[in-house]
Amino acid sequence: MNNNFFFPSRRQVLAGLVAGAGSLALASCAQTGEPLKHYDTIVIGAGLSGLYAARLLEEEGASVLVLESSIRTGGRIFTLDDVPSKPDAGGMEIGQMYARARSIVSDLNIELSAFPSSPSGMAINYGAHTTTMSEWGEWQHNPLSEPLKKIPPFALMRSATPNPNPLAELDSWLEKDAQKFDVPLADYLKTLGDNDITREMINISLQGNSVDHISMLGELRKARVGQFERSNGPSEMIVGGASRLPEAMANNLISPIMLEKKVTHIKRKGNRSIITCADGSKYSAEYVICTVPYTVLKDIKIEPSLPTLQQQAINEIPYLPATVFYFTSSEPFWESDGLPPTMWTNSIIERIFALASTDQPVAIFWGLINGNNALLFDKMAYAEQVQTILNEMKRIRPASAGKLTVHKIHSWTAYPHNKGAWAYWKPGQIKKFGAIYHDPHQSIHFAGEHTATLSAGIEGALETGERAAFEVLGV
Ligand SMILES: Cc1cc2nc3c(=O)[nH]c(=O)nc-3n(C[C@H](O)[C@H](O)[C@H](O)COP(=O)(O)OP(=O)(O)OC[C@H]3O[C@@H](n4cnc5c(N)ncnc54)[C@H](O)[C@@H]3O)c2cc1C
Repeated sequence: MNNNFFFPSRRQVLAGLVAGAGSLALASCAQTGEPLKHYDTIVIGAGLSGLYAARLLEEEGASVLVLESSIRTGGRIFTLDDVPSKPDAGGMEIGQMYARARSIVSDLNIELSAFPSSPSGMAINYGAHTTTMSEWGEWQHNPLSEPLKKIPPFALMRSATPNPNPLAELDSWLEKDAQKFDVPLADYLKTLGDNDITREMINISLQGNSVDHISMLGELRKARVGQFERSNGPSEMIVGGASRLPEAMANNLISPIMLEKKVTHIKRKGNRSIITCADGSKYSAEYVICTVPYTVLKDIKIEPSLPTLQQQAINEIPYLPATVFYFTSSEPFWESDGLPPTMWTNSIIERIFALASTDQPVAIFWGLINGNNALLFDKMAYAEQVQTILNEMKRIRPASAGKLTVHKIHSWTAYPHNKGAWAYWKPGQIKKFGAIYHDPHQSIHFAGEHTATLSAGIEGALETGERAAFEVLGV
């Protein structure tokens, strides 16, 4: 058996059937002369969008091959099973309105639960001083101008966003009328008396590189989706970690999933597509569903070429740089300094969230660095990153000195299978690419969260897997 194959229980039994279904070979491999295995559909990427597309196609009797470049399934769903309390490095919150996710969870007998609660409140560090969110408004070191002083730094952007949200429906962001908002978010900061301080604060929690390079329309869309997702109550988590979802989906497929198969070339030849991987292996299919992020897709050669505008979208739509890190504390330093364990800081470590487990109110700390600070942090060697986290924590929270252990640092930007946390829109890009950003190209159909219309995150990925599968099925 090929070591690259991921063959869990049910698949082991059915693998023979699949091999039969996939043997209708007309083309042959140039290197070996052996016939290429042919499938109805090849899915590129075993993240949620790819696994869901494969699941739906299989339900309709199609033969499917899933090719995945990394050593695991799940993509941006990534439970760190080797870190205490098994935190998630990627997607973890399942919204109450995640219809597809909830339906799959229920079909596969996966358990959801409420997030266990951690201590409330937030410490806010600005420069050399630290306070609490409740005292921020009156704090002597609060650098904001008088009308803004009462707004916590992470909520400043919301104050600059048109309210109520002008997007009536989840897909209103694609309507012509909405294009007037497809301008830099920075334009709206003028209402806040835009200055370097507000910009710096907004950039810390911004889901983009800077307020000048992010579209207000993209942010309105996110806010509209968020409003919908929260409309029925708080998000939940997957018991045992979010990776249990893609793992169960993979286990439940009949189709083979080949790991460590980095697709480099998709070529249409006659009535079939020939897929080439970095190791020289080739596979053939009638249809292709390509779920890889644009950051990676731009390096896959597609023949015949994509229309110019679509290729431009792939090359230019940016991804949020993000790095996450995890540490534990041997003692509750937050009880010694009297500040909440969760913290916002304008230093390079940006945001620290205290995560609870079922038996501990603070089981582990999750750090999240976004945008330009993530790029700066990523330039450091691992040992320097660890030291930076410890030094910054010691500077801001002296009571933590000598008590912290850093367990893991994961850069989504440096991770070669994603090269970024998620796609966002630059000013003007929705107007330019909104009508074509997930158009099929001959027999290639595009999926992945970056191609979602109505939802975002986990549900967005599933929405696109479903759309691409339906496109292939012609329904
Ligand atoms: C830090 C972080 C926190 C998040 N939190 C949440 C949350 O709480 N709730 C929520 O709803 N969403 C959240 N998300 C978003 C959610 O995780 C993603 O939207 C979703 O998992 C994306 O799925 P996907 O299938 O579109 O892409 P991916 O999961 O990225 O799947 C693409 C797959 O393609 C593979 N691949 C790449 N290149 C190739 C190639 N050349 N050949 C073959 N395979 C290739 C990749 O390895 C990957 O497995 C978060 C994301 C991040 C990064």
